[in-house]
Amino acid sequence: AASPLFADLAGDISVSFEFFPPKTEKMEAQLWDSFHTLEPLNPSFVSVTYGAGGSTRERTHATVARIAAESRVPPAAHLTCVEASREEIDAVARAYWEAGVRHIVALRGDVPGGEPYRAHPQGYANAAELVAGLKAIAPFDISVAAYPEVHPDAECPQADLDNLKRKLDAGATRAITQFFFSPDAFLRFRDAAAAARIDAPIIPGILPVSNVSQTRRMADMCGAAIPPWMVSLFDGLDGLPAARQLIAATIAAEMCRRLYAGGVRDFHFYTLNRAELSYAICHLLGLRPAALPIKEETA
Ligand code: FAD
Repeated sequence: AASPLFADLAGDISVSFEFFPPKTEKMEAQLWDSFHTLEPLNPSFVSVTYGAGGSTRERTHATVARIAAESRVPPAAHLTCVEASREEIDAVARAYWEAGVRHIVALRGDVPGGEPYRAHPQGYANAAELVAGLKAIAPFDISVAAYPEVHPDAECPQADLDNLKRKLDAGATRAITQFFFSPDAFLRFRDAAAAARIDAPIIPGILPVSNVSQTRRMADMCGAAIPPWMVSLFDGLDGLPAARQLIAATIAAEMCRRLYAGGVRDFHFYTLNRAELSYAICHLLGLRPAALPIKEETA
């Protein structure tokens, strides 16, 4: 007999959430609101991105430092090599260590404006060099990026895997993937990595999509494919945001179910600073708050 719907999802998963540093007071309020909604799901970490060329250096630091000071969830600070000397990057990393931040997501970054990447003359040439540089500063826990559908700058899939291995050999402990919409692409990538003797965890990055045109812009930049079935699922829903949200949750939950069936137990969510979709998907995967707030009895 067919198993009951969702009965296979035991909630034995571990999640992490990614935020971006807010620009305005309104965005800041939204970020903390989302953070506090997701916090009871007991994420293994929450990460905060770093804007192109270090444009959010202070805002990323302020957000990460506030999480470190006010929450028991370990924060992870993203850091890139773009347009900065090693000295500047090392100073940012030292300030994180001093603020009690122990986890860095180490990235190369991209040149603003979409030009081909060029390293700063006194900078780290790529993410692997940055990982080694960070390890020389302090024993950080380091995550790096991985690309199930291959990074656009890579010569071939094998070269991209070799690069991932270099980052892990330099001292990173896990990889988080770019978003993707084909669970099979992720599972094939995970198996190819295992065959290449990469034994560090590779955590799928889940982007719950409710706006295809916004996602297309992001996908074009990083080589992720937006499948035609996804475009057609959102067709005709431009004026129906609530329906789009339902479709978005359904797509992402179905993708996570397939990943779960393939043995995946760790999930990283690109929240875009909104809690609802990520929370709903975690709930569908069987995850429940670690401790429900005690409800006061009223006479
Ligand atoms: P690298 O690992 O250095 O590799 C980039 C490419 O160059 C790969 O194709 C690799 O194969 C190739 N390459 C590297 N070294 C060599 C070599 N020696 N010889 C030949 N080829 C080489 N960007 C931001 O600006 N801020 C963020 O906060 C941010 N967060 C991210 C989080 C995640 C989880 C992911 C997946 C991406 C994130 N990015 C962020 C985007 C990232 O900066 C870009 O994808 C960037 O183009 C590549 O960064 P990387 O760390 O993967 O680079």
